[in-house]
Amino acid sequence: MFTNTRFDSWDLPQHLLDSLEKIGWECATQVQKDTVPIARTGRDVIGQARTGSGKTAAFGLPILERCQPTGQLQALVLTPTRELANQVAEEFQTLQGETGLMIQTVYGGTDLEKQAKTLSGGVDIIVGTPGRVMDMTERGHIHLENPTLFCLDEADRMLDMGFFPDIMWVIERMKNRDQTLLFSATFPQEIIDAAHEFMDEPEFVLTNTEELDIPPIDMYSVKIGRANKLWALGRLMSRMSDEDQTIIFCNTKRMVDLAVQRLNKHRFVVEGLHGDLSQNQREKILHRFKEGEVKTIVATDVAARGIDVDGITLVVNYDLPVDLDSFIHRVGRTGRIGRKGEAWSLVSRDDAPQLSKIMATYGLEIIETEAPELPDGIDRDPVSRQDDFGETADVFGFVTLHLNIDSSLAGSSRSVAHWFQSSLRCDEMAIGDVHFDDGSTFVSIHTSKVGLAIKALEKHDMAGQRVTGTVFE
Ligand code: ADP
Ligand code: MG
Repeated sequence: MFTNTRFDSWDLPQHLLDSLEKIGWECATQVQKDTVPIARTGRDVIGQARTGSGKTAAFGLPILERCQPTGQLQALVLTPTRELANQVAEEFQTLQGETGLMIQTVYGGTDLEKQAKTLSGGVDIIVGTPGRVMDMTERGHIHLENPTLFCLDEADRMLDMGFFPDIMWVIERMKNRDQTLLFSATFPQEIIDAAHEFMDEPEFVLTNTEELDIPPIDMYSVKIGRANKLWALGRLMSRMSDEDQTIIFCNTKRMVDLAVQRLNKHRFVVEGLHGDLSQNQREKILHRFKEGEVKTIVATDVAARGIDVDGITLVVNYDLPVDLDSFIHRVGRTGRIGRKGEAWSLVSRDDAPQLSKIMATYGLEIIETEAPELPDGIDRDPVSRQDDFGETADVFGFVTLHLNIDSSLAGSSRSVAHWFQSSLRCDEMAIGDVHFDDGSTFVSIHTSKVGLAIKALEKHDMAGQRVTGTVFE
């Protein structure tokens, strides 16, 4: 990812060179090498590179170079989330060193009046989320006709989150916009189309044209039913060392809450991160995660945007993402700037087609394996494994129960079905076909009744026999 191009070979302003030296950055990453020189000429640039490849500085350096500490708004950077806005603003702050620019964040969930007050003290660069920027513009706190520089970070995410109409709203009001920079990890056609609409002969810089750049990490999938995902997660987490940090991804806020609750119950210290938390709460959790006080967080895709923590060595997809690109964004949370990492996906039967799609789309090698063994020194599963009949069921929710009783003893199919109906006091619909084969009896039975059926067999004889039932896979 790093190139041989040294920052000091560019005639950047001394302030910027000084701060780069101070933070120990010597060479540009590929996307920086490819985009910074073009952006510095004032041209519009579209840059694509994988998560964690240094896109922030790719647009940050040219923006910081062009802005002057005048207190007049010169550049607007839009990001999809507050966390990302903070992260971008922080990196700008670090990179600018002694340049003296006023860089402000503008996003929802914080006191609008307070934010307005800070802005009225003068601002050179705003890094914000679309909604709040619109709001502040309508209230007259931001004058969009002033800035000449416009930058969209994580454009693909913005598109997913439905921000494009808001972005167009902003762009229409930026009457003096003369340079636009757009960065994204992926490039769906919609973005290319949109970009052509509001950009001026943009230069496309794709650091990987064939496919999305995948972090150099090991990827595994484990076929596992919903009922035992927590068990598998417990195994994965029990392998973590003290230095490791983990992000567990769920698809919904509710699932995040549930997973946190259950993991806490099993004495795992984890925190949940999703859009329903207040800005304050989210920042606190993120801070504790960055400081390593919290080793594991459970998050939705949106909430995890902008998390840039070097210690993340394990990403778990508790659910597979619905949106394919999210998979890449998720696994990109680990293996940052050349570090090792692992990504594990817990794949239930319903998720399986999605996994194939992800692998085919990005040409990924995801190794199918079992949940890992317990590490040495730990002899009990943190979460115990449950019977899970759902995964073996057919589309109607029926599984086959194997009974070790011969047809000559069991009687007719009808009498077997009847035995279950009366012992379980269940509807005849819950018991399907009964057939006999090779000295055994097979009963098709609805998943909701299988556990009960096995128990009933333990308690009561069938046709005067002790019979054992096991789910037949
Ligand atoms: P992206 O936006 O592409 O996901 P970031 O801009 O967040 O990536 O960069 C990822 C990490 O790499 C950050 O911690 C950033 O500070 C660091 N970084 C970026 N460029 C360099 C560089 N040239 N040298 C060293 N570290 C860098
Ligand atoms: Mg970024």
